[in-house]
Parts: sequence; C-alpha cells; structure tokens
Amino acid sequence: MHQSFDREGLLHWYDANARELPWRVSPARRKAGEQPDPYRVWLSEVMLQQTTVSVARDYFLRFCAHWPTVHELAAASREDVLKEWAGLGYYARARNLHACARKIVADFAGGFPRSARKLADLPGIGPYTSAAIAAICYDERIAVVDANVERVISRFLALEKPLNESRPEIRKSVQSLVPERAGDFAQSLMDLGATICRPRGADCEICPLARGCLGRTTPDPARFPLKQKKKARPVRYGHAFVLQRGDNMIWLCKRPEKGLLAGMTGVPVSPWESQFAEVDFPMAGNWMKAGCVAHVFTHFRLELEVWELRGADIDPTLPGWWVPAGDLAEEALPGVFRKVLATAGFE
Ligand code: SF4
Repeated sequence: MHQSFDREGLLHWYDANARELPWRVSPARRKAGEQPDPYRVWLSEVMLQQTTVSVARDYFLRFCAHWPTVHELAAASREDVLKEWAGLGYYARARNLHACARKIVADFAGGFPRSARKLADLPGIGPYTSAAIAAICYDERIAVVDANVERVISRFLALEKPLNESRPEIRKSVQSLVPERAGDFAQSLMDLGATICRPRGADCEICPLARGCLGRTTPDPARFPLKQKKKARPVRYGHAFVLQRGDNMIWLCKRPEKGLLAGMTGVPVSPWESQFAEVDFPMAGNWMKAGCVAHVFTHFRLELEVWELRGADIDPTLPGWWVPAGDLAEEALPGVFRKVLATAGFE
C-alpha cells in the first residue's frame, strides 16, 4: 500500500483544499506553529459523533460562546450543559462531556493529557476520540479512522468485504501510513471522504489518490465498502383474541410488567412461539377467524392469527376491562394491537 498511496499528494491537496471549520487550525496556520486547542477539538469530535458537520457547527459555536474553555464548562451546572445539548440526542454523551471537563480541571489543572492512551482514560473518550485529539493536537502518529476514512481506504484497496470484516485491515493500513504531520494527515483523509470520495459517489478525476487507487479501476468504486448482509429476522407466531360484547364493548387487558410492550394495553394473546401452536382459546364460545397480521419488532417479526368472539352475554374470567369500541382510539394501544383490532373490524 505504501508505494501506491500518495501521502504527499494527499497532504498537498489538503494544504490547498482543507475545509474551514471553526474548531480547526488551517494547514497554513499549523505550519506557522499554531497548535489546535484540545478543548475545541474534543468538543467538536464528541458532537460529530451525534450529528453532521453543519449541525455540529452551530452547537459548537454556542457551546464555545457559553463556555470558551474547559474551566468554564467544568464550572457550569449539568442542567445548563444538558439544555445546550438538547436536540443532539443521546444525553449520556452530554453527561460524560461535563464529567470529563470536571475531571480535566480537577486532576489535570485544566490541561488535556497529551497522549491517546491517557486521553482514553477520561469519561466518554473512546479509542476514536482519543486518537483524534492526540493526532490533531499533538501530532501523535496514531491512526484516526472515522466513517469517512473507512470508506476511502475500502475503495482505495477495493476491499471485497463489508466493514465489520475489514476494520482491522483498514486500521493497520492507515497506521502504517501516518506521517509526521499526523494531525493534518488524519484531517486530510476525513476531508477527502467528505468532499471527493463521498458516500454516494466518487469524484475520482479530481482525487489526489487516484493514481494508486484500486477501486477506481473497477466499474463502480462507490460500491465499496460492501454492504453488510442483514441477518434474517426471526419470526414468532401466536394468536390474538378479540372479544366483542353485544353492546359493542371490546375486551382489553394489560400486558405483563416485564418484557416486550411491558405494562401497555392490548387484547388477550397466546404465547409467541417459533411456530404456530394449536390455538388455545381463552374461553369457550363460537370463535371465528378474522384474519392474520404481521408486525415487525426490532428483534423479530411477529405473525398473529386474529380470532373473534361476538355475543350478547360474554363474561370473560380473564383479567381485563370492557371499553366501548368507539373509544379505542383513546387507549394506549401499541401498533400491533391496533392492527389486530383493525383486522377484526375495529379501527
Ligand atoms: S480515486 Fe476515487 S475511489 Fe479512489 S479514493 Fe479517490 S475518489 Fe475514492
């Protein structure tokens, strides 16, 4: 890879084309000796794990206006930090951000540790963020591999594998390439992935890595990295029971407090199993089959046979309560039970 990967050409391209980002020290300023502020790099990297560059930019600027240094952020209340973070989601990150700022002030007098290994001991800083801070701020010769970099290298090497299989190889390849300008190198690969070797297309004609790129010699370089095959979702089968009394009341019940759809409202159901079991009706009566429904949960697909029992004097002995059919819309019914009721004619 070494001979074919034009590292100098890539850095040259970066010198002329680096994106201007509020947390970044441009290659020209970097060459003049300016060092990136680890506080700003850390903030930006944590935000970029949640969102796109354009959204992160606004949040970043607001954070820096409120808390220009790690000392101010550490002194802020957690509520204020969470409030500013609102909209980015995954609040554990914001809590860790705040805890990390406090630790840096308490244990390191406000100075970030200068190696990836030590940075990785801080709250919320994983292998990627520690490598990014150490490379960008201190030029530690360590591979910084984000999704952009994974894509560029997968294409460059035309790796006929999905990322879950090729990650170790990609990391090793990048690690073997890291030059003295480690920070600029990391950012040049990120920028190349964001602007030229993009997720949905590759502008190979203007790419500084075009000469050695194997992906480019194939009919469709954007085919890499290969998509991971989705595991087939298991299917579970069961029966659902809709009871309708003569005065147009429907029988509902509460789901168990543990497990899927815990504590929510539904209709009586059989256990959900790996194949259709013979139906065991919850009470005697003239049950009729209303149809079938399928519903996809995160970890499995559910297929239910829907049975209905209609009669003037139904008196179930199972736990539950009657609800007028016209009021079903106001009940807290999960989607799967709405489908079941619709199959029996109650929308
Ligand atoms: S030559 Fe094309 S496929 Fe290869 S790295 Fe550049 S843009 Fe990506």
